[in-house]
Amino acid sequence: MRELSKAFGATPILRDISFEVPEGEFCVVLGPSGCGKTTLLRLVAGLEAPSTGEIFLEGSRIDALPPRERDVAFVFQSYALYPHMTVFENLGFSLRLRGFSKNEIQSKVTEAARLLELEGQLQRKPHELSGGQRQRVALGRAIVRQPKIFLFDEPLSNLDPALRASMRIELARLHERLKPTILYVTHDQAEAMILGETIMVLNEGELQQSGSPSAIYHQPANTFVARFVGHPQMNLIEGKLDDKGRLFTSNGFELELSGAVWKGWGTFAGKSLTLGIRPEDLYPAGAEEPWIRGEVEMVEDLGSEQFVHLKREGVRIVVRLPVNVRVRRGEILDLKADPDRLHLFHHGNRVNP
Ligand code: ATP
Repeated sequence: MRELSKAFGATPILRDISFEVPEGEFCVVLGPSGCGKTTLLRLVAGLEAPSTGEIFLEGSRIDALPPRERDVAFVFQSYALYPHMTVFENLGFSLRLRGFSKNEIQSKVTEAARLLELEGQLQRKPHELSGGQRQRVALGRAIVRQPKIFLFDEPLSNLDPALRASMRIELARLHERLKPTILYVTHDQAEAMILGETIMVLNEGELQQSGSPSAIYHQPANTFVARFVGHPQMNLIEGKLDDKGRLFTSNGFELELSGAVWKGWGTFAGKSLTLGIRPEDLYPAGAEEPWIRGEVEMVEDLGSEQFVHLKREGVRIVVRLPVNVRVRRGEILDLKADPDRLHLFHHGNRVNP
């Protein structure tokens, strides 16, 4: 899509969105509630018309076409299977509406059922299926139509956490096997990281960053992406660099940055900056000179790891530590971080590579 914008009345919902989903790729649109994700899918499906901009599918412009002629399949939050129909009938329903012959329907449905490993379930009704099987039927209904792109709107959001986790894996496997082109909307950053080959991060109708999960996580383009992706959130510390561009001073501590591999700090000498450190990039300083010293305010022990919350004169820091590091509330903890893994933002935008 190219320079796509949408407003409802005078309210802009999407602003100037340009991006491309390569054929066969799993692309995730990630953003908080209300940022315009569903609207974006509806524009692609033709359920809304863009205010300005263009949408192309395999090189042909589609934004003026009615939904039926777009060759896209929308898979919704609720699977919306017909409860009184068997799996076979659910899978073949749209083909029947389109006037396909009995034989054609039989062969397309059998093929989809084979791909989705639903052959044994064809005569069952939806209530006799597991959540995962129901999801596959919903997907199968889209597959039989052989669309050029699948649009998913938070398909896992109604499921309990355990089922959601197994469905994620199932979806990733299916994509690996069948390689359909997918545009998938979610507000769940973990889901986006697991499923997406490309992630587009949206906020307030604007594209913040698009890239591989690794690029989004390790080189967030701005403080919004830095905060939105990753759990616990990245520590963001407001401060200032000294005139030599070496010492970062914040309201509770000073960091000597001269040891950092990136030599570009000096460009921002004397400027106000935000320093970002992921909780897992901090570690106990041991005998080394600590960077951050803070009092342990709270420990979240998850069994497999612990999130330690420190405070120091108004600055709050979260550290992810292995459980074999013993920490207690009220204790003073000395920490270091790998200087290569620091993130630096100026006016909210990333400045280091
Ligand atoms: P969620 O994750 O909560 O579903 P979303 O990111 O999918 O959110 P959208 O459903 O695209 O967000 O909505 C974006 C904004 O557009 C919201 O503020 C919503 O109230 C507004 N909006 C959506 N549809 C319409 C409409 N038909 N008329 C007016 N405003 C609308």
